[in-house]
Amino acid sequence: MIRPSPIPLTDNKLIVCHECDLICRGAVLAAGESANCPRCHASLYRNSRATLDQALAVALTSAILLLILNSFPLLALKVQQVTRDTTLFHAALSMWDDGMHIISLLVVLTTMLAPALQIAVALYVLCTLKFGDAGRAVGVPMRFLQKIRPWSMVEVFMLGLLVSLVKLQNLADIVIGPALWSCAAMICVSAALASILTPRNVWVWAHQQGLGRAAYMGETHAGT
Ligand SMILES: [Zn+2]
Repeated sequence: MIRPSPIPLTDNKLIVCHECDLICRGAVLAAGESANCPRCHASLYRNSRATLDQALAVALTSAILLLILNSFPLLALKVQQVTRDTTLFHAALSMWDDGMHIISLLVVLTTMLAPALQIAVALYVLCTLKFGDAGRAVGVPMRFLQKIRPWSMVEVFMLGLLVSLVKLQNLADIVIGPALWSCAAMICVSAALASILTPRNVWVWAHQQGLGRAAYMGETHAGT
């Protein structure tokens, strides 16, 4: 049941600017508006237009893209009529076999495990809000999500891969695989998910779904 009532998150509440520590009084914003610090002009919070359904759609898209990224070849090298392709996992496995154990583990952690965990937690939070019972808290998973976000480095991997492609193009014909396109799309979709799935939006959706404070008790602060 959706209650499109104003969300009492910032009305007359005091908010500390995360940049300059100025204490500001919150204001109720229209959809799409944002509040900035009057001293340093840092963005304090934003009243997003994003809905719970949109967030769920973006999270599901991320999951599909991650599945493609890990299932299909990243690229294929063609040298003298011999073509050899590789997936992300096989690339990490090759590095392990070549003795680059730490790099191999970092690739697996930052491009496979962390993004998968991040998307799984995001889906758990969103599905709990959408379909869950009122007694199930999402505060703990939201805090966990904030902690694992820095470990997801698909964009760093993509940048390194692009540099490698530039260097390899003189040595062999390169065929871009579906996983590389998926990786590029996933960077955009992950950025969209991170901007939508904020503690403030989760708080708003919890109120709209009628879960109330009991469903989202945690130490997450409005405006962070
Ligand atoms: Zn400030």
